[in-house]
Amino acid sequence: AEVTHGFVGADLAALAREAAMVVLRRLINEGKINPEAESIPREVLEELKVTKRDFYEALKMVEPSALREVLIEVPNVHWDDIGGLEEVKQELREAVEWPLKYPKAFKKLGITPPKGVLLYGPPGTGKTLLAKAVATESEANFIAVRGPEVLSKWVGESEKRIREIFRKARQAAPAIIFIDEIDAIAPARGTSEGEKVTDRIINQLLTEMDGLVENSGVVVIAATNRPDILDPALLRPGRFDRLILVPAPDEEARFEIFKVHTRSMPLADDVDLRELARRTEGYTGADIAAVCREAALNALRRVVKSVPKEKLEEESEEFLNKLVVTRKDFEEALKKVKPSVSKYMMEYYRQFEEARKRVS
Ligand code: ADP
Repeated sequence: AEVTHGFVGADLAALAREAAMVVLRRLINEGKINPEAESIPREVLEELKVTKRDFYEALKMVEPSALREVLIEVPNVHWDDIGGLEEVKQELREAVEWPLKYPKAFKKLGITPPKGVLLYGPPGTGKTLLAKAVATESEANFIAVRGPEVLSKWVGESEKRIREIFRKARQAAPAIIFIDEIDAIAPARGTSEGEKVTDRIINQLLTEMDGLVENSGVVVIAATNRPDILDPALLRPGRFDRLILVPAPDEEARFEIFKVHTRSMPLADDVDLRELARRTEGYTGADIAAVCREAALNALRRVVKSVPKEKLEEESEEFLNKLVVTRKDFEEALKKVKPSVSKYMMEYYRQFEEARKRVS
């Protein structure tokens, strides 16, 4: 488990299979199994065991799938799929969307757009969503990577991966590289155990960013919940020099997020989104999405119980017409889904923002 950082389920299955193959190959090499023979001798069968060494041998051959290729996505998230965060959206429009869409205008006016933008704030507040929306609205390609997945145990592998990501992005420009959980690869130099690896990765990332020429059509957006542990070198001019706080939503923003997530939901008259917004202090966008999903499921559970089985199976009109999400469904959902942002957490981000403003 320790040495398979970045492996997904399918990779682990491949690894186990490969380890078994290592054993077979070894026995064939040693002449204990004859591939031409009809069967394997009983004593050999009894001896068949996959050892630790076989696993390590297999590890040389199986890479986590995330490392094998850089995937280019074309996201489909629009600004109005994001509730609240109006100022953040405006800032991203100007800092990323406009330069990608109107590079000539920026050149003519002599404005240098940022190469890197860092979105920071509590988890589930819409950072990924924002990055995808900028890509969609700028008609840019989108390459998403997660910090932990870049951290590869193979020497040199992580740097190669970063070079590959930037090469692909330049090829696919206009393109946005989104690095989620950047704190995983960027603990301030000299403070972490994996010091050497992260140093090299950061250096590679900085080299690539420094190498982006003006108007290259490539912008890097990174996201983190822990802006305080980032290597300061990442935040210098020409790198991630635009820091944007993505806060937990206030009441008005929560109302907007509730609207987004109930947009295509049949709501009963007694559902009051304003009131729900008022009562969900500390809930992030992700929490509110979960509340809405849970409320809808409550409606389904309720109706499934009340409709005869035949009507259910053919998804009759009668059944579908009954599917309306009520106030009570939301009440139940609120009991189940709890807020994920505490006052303490909000204070932490507020203080970080203030300190930053004082410095700059
Ligand atoms: P983060 O990257 O900040 O951890 P995400 O962007 O991945 O958060 O958000 C997770 C999910 O939560 C989104 O897919 C969306 O359903 C919901 N969500 C979060 N913030 C918002 C928002 N401001 N408006 C609408 N939905 C949101």
